[in-house]
Amino acid sequence: MNFVVLTIFPEMFDPFWSHGIIRKAIEEQKIFTSAINIRDYAADRHQVTDDRPYGGGSGMVMKPEPLAGAIRAASRTAPEAKTVLLTPQGRAFDQRMARALASLDGLILVCGRYEGVDERVCYDLIDYEISTGDYVLTGGELAAMIIIDAVTRLIPGTLGGEQAAEKDSFVNGLLEHAHYTRPPNFEDHEVPEVLRSGHHQEIDRWRLESSLMRTLLKRSDLLQQKDLDQQEVEILKNWHQEIEKILEINAKRHRG
Ligand code: SAM
Repeated sequence: MNFVVLTIFPEMFDPFWSHGIIRKAIEEQKIFTSAINIRDYAADRHQVTDDRPYGGGSGMVMKPEPLAGAIRAASRTAPEAKTVLLTPQGRAFDQRMARALASLDGLILVCGRYEGVDERVCYDLIDYEISTGDYVLTGGELAAMIIIDAVTRLIPGTLGGEQAAEKDSFVNGLLEHAHYTRPPNFEDHEVPEVLRSGHHQEIDRWRLESSLMRTLLKRSDLLQQKDLDQQEVEILKNWHQEIEKILEINAKRHRG
């Protein structure tokens, strides 16, 4: 997978490329990365990439010519790549989109700054507009890093065996189960007994229940969208019965 980032701050990516899974993926040639300075494609002596907005108003707008030059140059070196404009107005990035992007051969990620980019850049040069969330960043660089990070860990072989991405939150429509490591007792909080039992079937069952419970409490919207399997339905029904029982006992108590 080839990631080409177009930015006026390419040096922001130096530390990003040199840590953790991203660094390992680069070293093992699972991903190829470059951050290209849009200023290099500005025609004037001062390498200006922004200008005042037509119609007036505050802020500056990224000029179309340097951006178009940078995108065309990147497309020549990575003809297989799709071009993405990072913008808060784009489609919301999520795990499903990360998986779809991970199946591509390359991405050219265009980072805006100031008030954004001249609209005409989007007419012919952009394949997708992507937002990392409903908030406004000062630039597209952090958004590009989020996308590169989430996509890279889905590329086969980038995670160690024990870090399989298939078990992560959102992959099967649920949040992942709770995790524990040593010590067995931390500030009077015990690790659940079952996780120390070595009984794999029971551990799997506990993890599924933990996963369902966390999703119900934190993101019930995910459960509403999920196509539940038989075991998941059975667990939810059990809880439902337990809750009904508690409510009945409580109602009886109040009736005297
Ligand atoms: N004026 C623009 C608007 O209201 O839509 C926001 C411009 S923002 C200050 C500057 C740049 O940051 C954008 O061009 C984009 O590249 C990037 N950016 C900001 N928020 C983003 C988000 N949520 N997702 C992706 N990129 C974002």
